[in-house]
Amino acid sequence: RPAKTPGAKVRDIAEERARSMLREEPVLSLIVPMLNEEEMVPVFHERLSDVLEGIGETYEVICIDDGSSDGTFEALAAIHARDRRWKTIRFSRNFGKEIALSAGIKHARGAAVIPIDADLQDPPELIAEMLEKWREGYDVVCAVRRRRDEDTWLKKTSASLFYRIMGRVTNIHMTPNAGDFRLMDRRVVAAINRLPERNRFMKGLFAWVGFEQAIIEYARPQRAAGKSKFNFWRLWNFSLDGITSFTTLPLRISGYLGGVIATLAMVYGVILIARHAIFGADVPGYTSIMVAVLALGGLQLVILGVIGEYLGRLYTETKRRPLYVIDAALGFDEPTVPPVS
Ligand code: UDP
Ligand code: MG
Repeated sequence: RPAKTPGAKVRDIAEERARSMLREEPVLSLIVPMLNEEEMVPVFHERLSDVLEGIGETYEVICIDDGSSDGTFEALAAIHARDRRWKTIRFSRNFGKEIALSAGIKHARGAAVIPIDADLQDPPELIAEMLEKWREGYDVVCAVRRRRDEDTWLKKTSASLFYRIMGRVTNIHMTPNAGDFRLMDRRVVAAINRLPERNRFMKGLFAWVGFEQAIIEYARPQRAAGKSKFNFWRLWNFSLDGITSFTTLPLRISGYLGGVIATLAMVYGVILIARHAIFGADVPGYTSIMVAVLALGGLQLVILGVIGEYLGRLYTETKRRPLYVIDAALGFDEPTVPPVS
């Protein structure tokens, strides 16, 4: 990607402001997915509000209560009662962070949209810096973790392996060590809102739509309170979603593997027949038969599994269910479920 010529596309923030005022749209939309973050809500509200008031642009904060079983929604409702800029969508059950983000982005009306975690691991103070880059003309400003000291060794290595595989195997470039914390211009958001898939690997979708991107670095702090909702198993499934959503290479590898093994089998078959013709029947052979049967059986199961992964996802897509169901919404004229097209 060619280096950016400074000043080529400087955003006219005065015009953005005027347009926002005319349409009663905020300049900034913050999207906050929340699952059982009761104890974080007041802390988060205070810290984010401080930062946003300091910035001085108009804003809205859209919190998505992703089926919490604690008092998250009540806490958010209390804040909404005092400050109408804090809006809430409550899902009817837990749909997962990716879908919560999709819903938030769908309802955002700001000129710039920023997804942010509720646990303060995405420092709100970075928002000012993001805005600066946005005004310089970048459509996407990614916050990238400088080091991942807060993560365990297992999480760090598996994450870097994942980014390497994704980079090699798909033709979309995901920024390594960038979470969902990023600023997106409304053009980017409009493009994302048009993506119809149900399988929403957001980091991949963000990268897929493209646009001019800037990067700012930060050190990711520990979670302020509560605990992480992503265990190893959930992350594993998450990475499977990522890979299968953006490449069919595993299917092709299965095909090639089958081809190679079939060729080897044919060669071996010819050798066996020739040996039989020259030296006559040869009874021992238990080992080679067992090895062939077990190896081929195992391989077939693995390949069937790969096909199954894709088939299952295809099935989910073809059902065309809406992405989520809304139980309650505060601060919206009418909350919308994405249309089933
Ligand atoms: N989250 C959510 N739905 C889920 C899981 C998580 O909305 O099913 C939210 C969670 O409340 C938090 C953000 O997603 O605001 C990131 O989650 P977490 O901090 O647990 O992830 P980690 O930082 O450990 O990757
Ligand atoms: Mg976190």
